[in-house]
Amino acid sequence: MMGAMGQPFGVEDVLKGRPAPRTLLRRGISKRCPRCGGGGLFAGYFRMRERCPTCGYQFEREPGFFVGAWFINFGIAEGLLFPIVMLFGWWKNVHPDAGVLGPAILGAAIAIVGPIVFYPFSKTIWSAFDLMMVPLEVSEIVAAADALDDEPAGGRGREDGAVGDEGSEP
Ligand SMILES: [Zn+2]
Repeated sequence: MMGAMGQPFGVEDVLKGRPAPRTLLRRGISKRCPRCGGGGLFAGYFRMRERCPTCGYQFEREPGFFVGAWFINFGIAEGLLFPIVMLFGWWKNVHPDAGVLGPAILGAAIAIVGPIVFYPFSKTIWSAFDLMMVPLEVSEIVAAADALDDEPAGGRGREDGAVGDEGSEP
């Protein structure tokens, strides 16, 4: 299973040690792969690669997985808006005849720009949460390793590590 370049992401290594939740979160917040801490996960600002280029981890582990990322993004935007609304409430109290237009525009701008800016972060943060809650299965680890060395070495002794999703055995 060890790749030619000595990838330290074989099944044994992965099963041996899982990153601590703190580590996972720190990686997610810094837009890195929660599993290995590797970067370069995005092909563009908004286009996340299917797999981590360093360890082969597939981010979308099941269909609809990134709905969670949407919630994270929503939470961040709300978290930004809340102090502004509070501040405006206080300011309006001090200046009762102050206009509403400026703060409203500011709030709208944050509500629109915030989720765009935080979009990639929400994905990696959610990925970290997901990995925290649902540890990698052996089949995922094998698939990740296979994705890394994708040159088909004709009929190499492939151990039957892929715990089948469909048990096609008799
Ligand atoms: Zn990785």
